[in-house]
Amino acid sequence: MDRATDRPRAPRAHHHREERRAWPFRPAVALLLVLVPALLAGCSALAPPAAPAPGQSTEAVRPEMAPEPTDTRFHLTLLHFNDIYEITPLQGGRVGGPARVATLRERLLAENPNTLTLLGGDLLSPSAMGTAKVDGERLAGRQMVAVLNALGLDVTTFGNHELDLSKDELVQRLGEAEFDWVCGNITWADGSALPNVAPYEILTLDDLEKAHAGEGGSLRLGILGAVLPNGAPDYVAIADPVATLATQAVALRDQVDVLVALTHLALEDDARLAATVPEIDLILGGHEHENWQIWRGNDATPIFKGDANVKTVYVLDLYFDRESKTIDVEPELVWITDQIPDQPETAAVAARWAQAAFDGFRQDGFEPEQTVAVTTVELDGREASVRNRSTALTDLVAQAMVTAGSADSVDAAVYNSGSIRIDDVLAPGPVTQYDVIRILPFGGDVVTVEIEGGLLGKVLDQGVANRGTGGFLQYAGIERSEDGTWMVAGSPLSSSATYRVSLSDFLLTGRETGLDYLTEENAGVRVLAERGDIRKAVIAELQTRFPAP
Ligand SMILES: [Zn+2]
Repeated sequence: MDRATDRPRAPRAHHHREERRAWPFRPAVALLLVLVPALLAGCSALAPPAAPAPGQSTEAVRPEMAPEPTDTRFHLTLLHFNDIYEITPLQGGRVGGPARVATLRERLLAENPNTLTLLGGDLLSPSAMGTAKVDGERLAGRQMVAVLNALGLDVTTFGNHELDLSKDELVQRLGEAEFDWVCGNITWADGSALPNVAPYEILTLDDLEKAHAGEGGSLRLGILGAVLPNGAPDYVAIADPVATLATQAVALRDQVDVLVALTHLALEDDARLAATVPEIDLILGGHEHENWQIWRGNDATPIFKGDANVKTVYVLDLYFDRESKTIDVEPELVWITDQIPDQPETAAVAARWAQAAFDGFRQDGFEPEQTVAVTTVELDGREASVRNRSTALTDLVAQAMVTAGSADSVDAAVYNSGSIRIDDVLAPGPVTQYDVIRILPFGGDVVTVEIEGGLLGKVLDQGVANRGTGGFLQYAGIERSEDGTWMVAGSPLSSSATYRVSLSDFLLTGRETGLDYLTEENAGVRVLAERGDIRKAVIAELQTRFPAP
């Protein structure tokens, strides 16, 4: 029988909250006077272990890692993940799944009661499930907060995607969370604190066994948090993350034994933080969607990030030596797969929310759980890819639109890359209708238009100008030659000719960047037909191109 199923649920990590400062954060001036000894005392010697070879998988069940009996170092285990958008496993159920992470957490807690579960931000959005309406309201991350509550998450920081929500939705989610939010560089626009968000926290963990042996087992753990400032809405103010963390790290250093920065920053900013703020012992990050382990700075501060959607998580065993003030970190990248059983309560919560969301999708005519295709190529839907170039996925969507408009004999199809929201790579394998909803959560109709060549050229040029944003245009049946000439159906675009093109209906609203003139009112455009939801078109295209065996 499996360890996870024959034992009652492990209790939460044995720690109590020592301090949770209210905003604004004001470092005590007196701290500066003791800064130099504090720095000396707090400097951590971190020994980088050999990094695992790229792609090397690790065992789902960890080997026993208990220190030798004579080891009086404090043993802290950190379970870290980041950028989680899905509450159920991906790729036909083979990878990811927070309920499996919950099982891993229970196993870690059984090995070491001083285990904390941390999240590097990006949990509330974007997700297809978040767009489903339940009880008349968009879920907007409600499903994820419920699952992470069940999982037993201890602390998260903010990701930039938390700010996709409206202010009201965000306040609701912050209120529902049973875990702590730590972020030192975010406030409401007027400078006031977000509810239930602390700039930092200090946890005191008690190793009772060692305390009883007269070895003074407690450890004070400082956790800082920060989010990247790009693209934030007007309702918040975000200060420079590295500068903020530097100030707070100096102020906290002598109050704690171990100082962790839980960040949602670009890797280069994490590296800069590691190199320039020696007070920080360890950086647990997010945002890249790919696992990273790098060590930077004179004291070799390690930075760890997992893959998005808990395809991988990091398990870090920290050993703090009170005598020498040194910390040893033993990192392990753990792949979350179907080799790890679900933790039943977390799985039940996830299943309940998934069914509620799927019922909403069924009302829109989808069968979310149906496998529509088994692909043989990677479908890249990452924002960094689709907003800058075409991929097999963007071509598939464009071709689906051409097929949808075939009754109108369309020459080409054009859509905005911002309609692709999955921000993930679909590996070759089974694709469900829900995966298609994940790719295009906003849906919308494929519309056949007759458009004047001059206007079409202007639209396509704007698409090039929009590179790097959601207004970058994707197309099929159209090519751009070296000298910038547009080719439609193999011939140079003629400004006096008229073309039949499939457009996404959003493009005809005039709301795309630089395309406010592209509406049904424009004399150069004539709408001929509506050819149904773009997601239905993509499902049909997948079925034709990659039929399930
Ligand atoms: Zn992010």
